[in-house]
Amino acid sequence: MLDELRRITHNFVQEPNLDLALASLVSDIKFCLNTDCCSIYLADPDQKLLRLKATDGLNPDAVGQTIMRFDEGLTGWVAERGEPIKVHNALQHIRFKQFPTIEEDTYSGFLGVPIMHRRKILGVISLQQSESRYFEQQEEAFLVTLSAQLASTFANVTLRLRSEPDELNPQSALVLQGVSGARGVGIGHSYLVQTNIEFSDVSLKKVGSAEPEKARYFNAVENTRADIIEMTKRMANQLPKDALAIFDVYQQLLEAASLGNEVVDKIEQGWCAVSALKIVVEKYIAEFEKMDDPYIRERAVDVKDLSRRLLEHLTAKAHRELSIPKSAIIIAEEVTASMLAEIPRDQISGIVSIKGAENSHAAIMARALGIPAVIGLRDVPILQLDDIELIVDGYNGTVFITPNEAIVDEYRKLESEDKAFADLLKKESNEFAQTQCGRRISMYINSGMGFEGDIAEQLHIEGIGLYRTEYLFMMRQRFPSEQEQQSFYQEVLGDFEGKPVVMRTLDVGGDKQLPYFPIVEDNPFLGWRGIRLTLDHSEIFLVQIRAMIKANILTNNLHIMLPMVSDIGEIEEASRLIKQAHREVEKEMQEADAGAHVHKPKIGVMIEVPSMIFQLSKLKGKIDFCSIGTNDLTQYLLAVDRNNDKVASLYDAYHPTVLTAIKMIADETKKIGIPCSVCGELAGDPGGAMLLTGMGFDRLSMNTQNILRVKWVLKKAPFKILETLVDDVLQCTRPDQVKFRVNRTILNIGAAGILRAGN
Ligand code: PEP
Ligand code: MG
Repeated sequence: MLDELRRITHNFVQEPNLDLALASLVSDIKFCLNTDCCSIYLADPDQKLLRLKATDGLNPDAVGQTIMRFDEGLTGWVAERGEPIKVHNALQHIRFKQFPTIEEDTYSGFLGVPIMHRRKILGVISLQQSESRYFEQQEEAFLVTLSAQLASTFANVTLRLRSEPDELNPQSALVLQGVSGARGVGIGHSYLVQTNIEFSDVSLKKVGSAEPEKARYFNAVENTRADIIEMTKRMANQLPKDALAIFDVYQQLLEAASLGNEVVDKIEQGWCAVSALKIVVEKYIAEFEKMDDPYIRERAVDVKDLSRRLLEHLTAKAHRELSIPKSAIIIAEEVTASMLAEIPRDQISGIVSIKGAENSHAAIMARALGIPAVIGLRDVPILQLDDIELIVDGYNGTVFITPNEAIVDEYRKLESEDKAFADLLKKESNEFAQTQCGRRISMYINSGMGFEGDIAEQLHIEGIGLYRTEYLFMMRQRFPSEQEQQSFYQEVLGDFEGKPVVMRTLDVGGDKQLPYFPIVEDNPFLGWRGIRLTLDHSEIFLVQIRAMIKANILTNNLHIMLPMVSDIGEIEEASRLIKQAHREVEKEMQEADAGAHVHKPKIGVMIEVPSMIFQLSKLKGKIDFCSIGTNDLTQYLLAVDRNNDKVASLYDAYHPTVLTAIKMIADETKKIGIPCSVCGELAGDPGGAMLLTGMGFDRLSMNTQNILRVKWVLKKAPFKILETLVDDVLQCTRPDQVKFRVNRTILNIGAAGILRAGN
């Protein structure tokens, strides 16, 4: 069975033309399950319509022509119920409906299985049999497995259809759905920044002319040969001779007589170089893996490794030689800080990150930089997004592929409305944030990707509420030295002289990786993150603290904040190390006779791991302040990985549980007299800021892009109304109920502008 499944899915994904792929799929299924007819219908879930797209057994002329509603016929019933349906005599069934064009009245047995993706129905696979037949359990299970395996490929049918828009809904063929990473509209040309391309990223493609493709392939072979020679030299002293022989095997595999001729043959049949390589390599791997001889089976690994190197030369490396487009839409499997740093900010119009979700760090970076972003376009073959025109709709989380003029015009209009609203916010904002009744809220910024001194001045912010020091570490090829860190921190503290700057100690792990210190774990968000890592490496922690303390000598505005604390012991240990670093710096200054006063920084913690909520009373006397990291607190309270787009819809800081926890923290910290702010993304969301204000928080920290939006909304909101809103939402059981109540309040206070798409 497994082999059959593999063969059928393999045939399907290998075929670049969707109609042919579907035609081969129905024939394969029909043959494999020994039935008289197999058909596939694709759905438009919004309009609740199904269209016959392929059949082996019904009237072929009906393909593309027959459309049925979900409430029509047995096939419609499968879509409507979202589950398999078996009927042994379809013609007698109450839901049977005659569609004359498809000529199915000779069939009696029926099995229909829905194709589901992210709770949406994408289509139906149906089997029919002339005589009355009750399809077996195993047959049903086989079809369900096949449908589940193919679902993500079907979800990307839109991409493959881009040259032949779907007549059911002409615009849907051009749109990909992810989640919103950062507000705004980006119109531009895509630029793939990618390091690790896998063959699963490659969708097969034919091209007009073979010669340039052959030249690309030969070029890649030469570059790969050079890499192998280089590797052989490097490893010569480290590996025994027989192990080095593997590099000879690699060189032989690159010979024309091995992979080479077959790849060239495929190119001559019209395939592009990347597709040709994929076809040949996958065939070889499948053959090797089938062998009984374990030695030969092992060779599949070598073919995989070698072909990945070839692929890299054919894609990313070749790409780097292309110049970056003027309005670049950055495309990457996972966008990182260093990728963004390599491209001038004014050349980036948008970001598309295949992996991630709303509060992944890629999204947080995009928001901080004010670059429209769509995140989590799962299952999209990334190479298909390269080098084409795109619109990134950061409001709705959609990406338009090669949009037509009408769509571009519409988005240009949205862009200018956006600009007009931004001007209005500037005009109408008060200097300082306060509610309509005059209750002051201190506004701080989240920073880390650069200096925001000027912006801070213009926005009248009162300091930095969260400085993410990890970006400084992520932009380098090694840990920054104490001296490098000191001068960096000194500049930030100097820019904000007279105002508090909360510097968070290194918070890597999870989805924040250092290129020179990779952490590979099964559950990275439950693993070696933040303070756990730095306490294990006091040499990294102490260097950072010493650099901060030295940088603070002139300005005395440093606050140190510890991330990912889950246990009071961690605070005690970190405080001991901070004291040690302080003593060391004091001694150093005395020895240098510098006469400088070495200030003791205030120490605080992030409240972002639920265990801390139940230990707040024990924090008294141990810390000077705390700040709620709603991004992680939401993830840990709801057990939803903030970086996993499969569960993105469950991640919601408006969840009543999250809000109840935040309210508990507000009340408890007030009771014990520890100042508490909020620096997670909820604070920068206008509705979130209203809720937090209503809970009694008077310090909010957010990215600079959100300051005016939050000030504008708060200015219209009387505190009493916000307090009532909080009482009301804490009674809710679902996030959508909370959202509804928040939005209703926004309308009632006359701040509807903030809710419109484009704002
Ligand atoms: C948070 O978790 O809310 C937070 C501010 O930290 P980060 O997003 O960097 O994990
Ligand atoms: Mg966090």
